[in-house]
Amino acid sequence: MGADICLAVHGGAGTIPASTLKGALAEAHHQSLRAALAAGFAVLQGGGSALDAVTAAVMRLEDDELFNAGRGAVFTSAGRLEMDAGIMEGAQRRAGAVAGVCGPKNPILAARAVMERSENVLLIGAGAEAFLREQNIPFEEPDYFTTQRRLDALQLELDRRASGAADTRSDADRHGTVGAVARDALGNLAAGTSTGGITAKRPGRVGDTPVVGAGVFADNGSCAVSTTGTGEVFIRFTAASEIAARVKYAGQSLERAAEDVVQELLAHGGDGGLIALGREGPPALPFNSSGMYRGFVTADGMIRTAIHRETWREICVEVNTT
Ligand code: ASP
Repeated sequence: MGADICLAVHGGAGTIPASTLKGALAEAHHQSLRAALAAGFAVLQGGGSALDAVTAAVMRLEDDELFNAGRGAVFTSAGRLEMDAGIMEGAQRRAGAVAGVCGPKNPILAARAVMERSENVLLIGAGAEAFLREQNIPFEEPDYFTTQRRLDALQLELDRRASGAADTRSDADRHGTVGAVARDALGNLAAGTSTGGITAKRPGRVGDTPVVGAGVFADNGSCAVSTTGTGEVFIRFTAASEIAARVKYAGQSLERAAEDVVQELLAHGGDGGLIALGREGPPALPFNSSGMYRGFVTADGMIRTAIHRETWREICVEVNTT
């Protein structure tokens, strides 16, 4: 009892370049991150679990078409939507995930249903969708998830491939993800990650997001981690559990382990970043890309958000002291 509650979120490393992301558009991204943090913080403040806080925060980001998850997800090369999501709690290390699904309004709820209502950890495609319909998870038609911006990004990439031109797209046109990590008042940790993947990905391709130990991980004995970036490299280097292992067995600080792993991923072609939260202290939010939509809220109600390498924007939410 008596752990300091804390929540961190990310909206992916696929950021709009700093030269373009200004004014109202930048503010909209900060506002969305703040709304997700406030939603999760309200859960923690009310004595809710880290798992519920992560679910609430990720759902909020999935519902916002600014980010590549749920509504606003990117398309495969075949013009379809195949979403991945994973969730894990650190007390008993229960986990659930879905891959290649299109239908569940909030893929993170789908992952949670797999964790809580099936004997499995990872369900894919049509089989997953059938299970989730049985569970009465809210579904939406493909139109709900579809945005012009992501259709344009797909067309741009298909045209580029046809012409053989070099890939000069911005990170924002290539990929993105959302995620959250939380610590509740009981000291329990949880992590959740949700994505549409990479623009024009091969149908059937699954990234790191729903892979336990790569894109999502939680263990009360070490930390909770949610990642974003070049999924294949994050899988090969089991990015999330690598950080946990360094904290647990090598006695490294969370900050150091997270930063080192993110730099090592870059050396192998893995650009991106992650958010990590340990048994105590603030989160680590390192990235090796030009930016990562990110933010965190501490027990005192201070919400901090940032996108590129600028200083944090700070706003204090009301803290319930009763
Ligand atoms: N990691 C995600 C994937 O590979 C994409 C991203 O985070 O930008 O599917």
